[in-house]
Amino acid sequence: MVRGGELIDEGLALPAQPTVVSLRRMNQVLDINLGRRTVRVQAGAKLSDIDRRLGAHGLGLPIVGDHRDITAGGFASVGGVSAASHKHGLFIDQIVDLEYVDTDGRIGTCGRTHHTERFQRILGAGGRAGIITALTLDAIEIDKERTWLTTNADRFLDFDSFVEHAYAEILRPGNAELQVGRWVDTAPLKVARPVGTGHVQLGTVRFGQWSSLYPTAPTRGLRARREVGSRARKSLGAIASAAPGKAGMPVRNAAAGAVLFAPKVQTLRDAEYLADTALSSSERGPAYRVGIFAPLSSYTSVFYRLHDLFSGHRERTGCFTVISAMTYGVRSRYLRAESAARGLPAEDHGLITFTCRLRPAALPSELLRDIVSGIEEICRSENALRYEAE
Ligand SMILES: Cc1cc2nc3c(=O)[nH]c(=O)nc-3n(C[C@H](O)[C@H](O)[C@H](O)COP(=O)(O)OP(=O)(O)OC[C@H]3O[C@@H](n4cnc5c(N)ncnc54)[C@H](O)[C@@H]3O)c2cc1C
Repeated sequence: MVRGGELIDEGLALPAQPTVVSLRRMNQVLDINLGRRTVRVQAGAKLSDIDRRLGAHGLGLPIVGDHRDITAGGFASVGGVSAASHKHGLFIDQIVDLEYVDTDGRIGTCGRTHHTERFQRILGAGGRAGIITALTLDAIEIDKERTWLTTNADRFLDFDSFVEHAYAEILRPGNAELQVGRWVDTAPLKVARPVGTGHVQLGTVRFGQWSSLYPTAPTRGLRARREVGSRARKSLGAIASAAPGKAGMPVRNAAAGAVLFAPKVQTLRDAEYLADTALSSSERGPAYRVGIFAPLSSYTSVFYRLHDLFSGHRERTGCFTVISAMTYGVRSRYLRAESAARGLPAEDHGLITFTCRLRPAALPSELLRDIVSGIEEICRSENALRYEAE
């Protein structure tokens, strides 16, 4: 088992005699080449640290995850997506070359221009094709602290309008630096009556938001509001992270909600990590997660079919409670090449992720198998690809 950094899954089950290779101490930025605009790093280096070092030279990483502790090797082993992927593709599109140790203990190198087959095999392989030990990455000219963005948010109460809007924005993002759509759909809420016994049944909450973030030059007043807003969100995030168990659920939900109501202006750096503490804390607890890269020609169909699959199972068995989705565009050389290699048209993609909070007792393994085979069938018939980021 390979670990990039410090993130340890709460539900992580180790095999009987585990061997854990940790790259935590291999965390150095080795070289920044200003002429080529590249950076050479050890695989355990955190993306946030690499980005900070690049920032001192007016450079930055185009794609970073929304969590500050993700390492370069860990991100390369899954693919790496962000709300900037409609513009810059996947993290692995930015890898020039890498060094690895294979399963027989041999050290090798590969890259865009040498041992390209091996390069393709290791990227996104989740550590199964060897351990990445160092990488050279492309950087772009950007000042993330001084690039200000303004948020245009569109809100939706019905799923169809949300999906249609998301598709239109992914197809034509204009000069949006970042884009993301989020959909939340709760099962009918049951709350205990204040007096006496029994429950009151409230309606289902269904809500979607599409946010596109554009470059702007903010007024002093808006900057001040952003300061107050971002401090409040960070405090809420910290409280949410510390709040344990069921009792902490309301504050974790509030922290997740704060992500939907982003400030009108913020720096690119803040926007990239907006979900950091808030989302990771709110996402604690049993949930089924799946990420799918849908070719744009079947994007809406994949979205509807996944939604129907999860909400259908929820209706029939009560196995899921809150179903939420997140989506954005992905224009990736790597994914286009993957499609071409399978004899499919080289299209751009939309990433659709679903997170379904679950009741473990209502989700026996045969039902889970049904759900997984339903997802596989959607992928097969729509030429979509799974994003294995867990
Ligand atoms: C809170 C949170 C937020 C996230 N946000 C995003 C996001 O915005 N975008 C996104 O794309 N993904 C996201 N992810 C998923 C994340 O990118 C992957 O889980 C990634 O593998 C984590 O990297 P890590 O350095 O933390 O690796 P670890 O969690 O330590 O390891 C995860 C797995 O990665 C593999 N791995 C790690 N290092 C190496 C290496 N050097 N060589 C080969 N394999 C290795 C191993 O298979 C290992 O089992 C998020 C995950 C979490 C927990």
